[in-house]
Amino acid sequence: SALLRMVGVRKTYDTGAIQVEALRGVDLAVQQGDFVAIMGPSGSGKSTLMHILGCLDVPSAGTYELDGVDVSHMTEAELADVRNRRIGFVFQQFNLLPSMTALRNVELPLVYAGVPRAERRERAQEALRRVGLADRVDHRPGELSGGQQQRVSVARALVTDPALILADEPTGNLDSASTHDVLELFHELHDAGRTIVLITHEAEVAQEARRVVRITDGLLSEGAAVPS
Ligand code: ADP
Ligand code: ADP
Repeated sequence: SALLRMVGVRKTYDTGAIQVEALRGVDLAVQQGDFVAIMGPSGSGKSTLMHILGCLDVPSAGTYELDGVDVSHMTEAELADVRNRRIGFVFQQFNLLPSMTALRNVELPLVYAGVPRAERRERAQEALRRVGLADRVDHRPGELSGGQQQRVSVARALVTDPALILADEPTGNLDSASTHDVLELFHELHDAGRTIVLITHEAEVAQEARRVVRITDGLLSEGAAVPS
């Protein structure tokens, strides 16, 4: 069944005299357990689409359903709740807190969710084990390589057991070896049944996904499905 479904999504930015139509009628359905890449050049509307997919913003027109819930008209507080409960984010810049250990960084979403301390600890340790960093739990981000930092942020994305993993240029700051490691990790998560949407401008990264959707000037077109 479709985990997320967008129908006729438009996004217009008002910048005084001119209006920019960043999304011009986007239809997109992603099935539970799918691994989809959204690929497009700079200025094509990727960030705008990512913000709507991630419930960081709402469409100007059209509908977006996530996990059976229409989120297109929600208030900021309602959106924040959906984000915290249903989405795990992975960013290009890792967005780890430098003063905290890997374990504390991964625990953080559970702090916001009100999970008790002992359970937090256990789940964060398990998530770090899952990404191959059981022996780095007490390291701070500055003591880890870029690839390891991104794996910490994947652990942070997983720890709440989200319906959707949303990765925005997750390999954009990584060398080719670390890029390979992180994409390998996404493959493992997909094999384990996770739903992943990955946004990238790089064809080599996009083709790692099971399905590639292209975005050009605010419109989507489906590429050939890559056999899994
Ligand atoms: P991408 O992430 O693919 O580079 P964006 O979604 O950032 O694309 O941008 C799509 C279009 O919308 C571009 O023309 C961009 O200039 C415009 N745009 C994005 N954000 C804003 C904004 N906050 N105000 C005005 N225009 C914007
Ligand atoms: P950029 O790649 O443009 O530097 P990021 O990918 O770091 O931006 O962040 C994209 C968007 O997600 C930003 O609008 C940011 O405010 C938001 N964001 C960043 N970190 C988080 C987070 N941990 N949870 C929710 N939203 C976040």
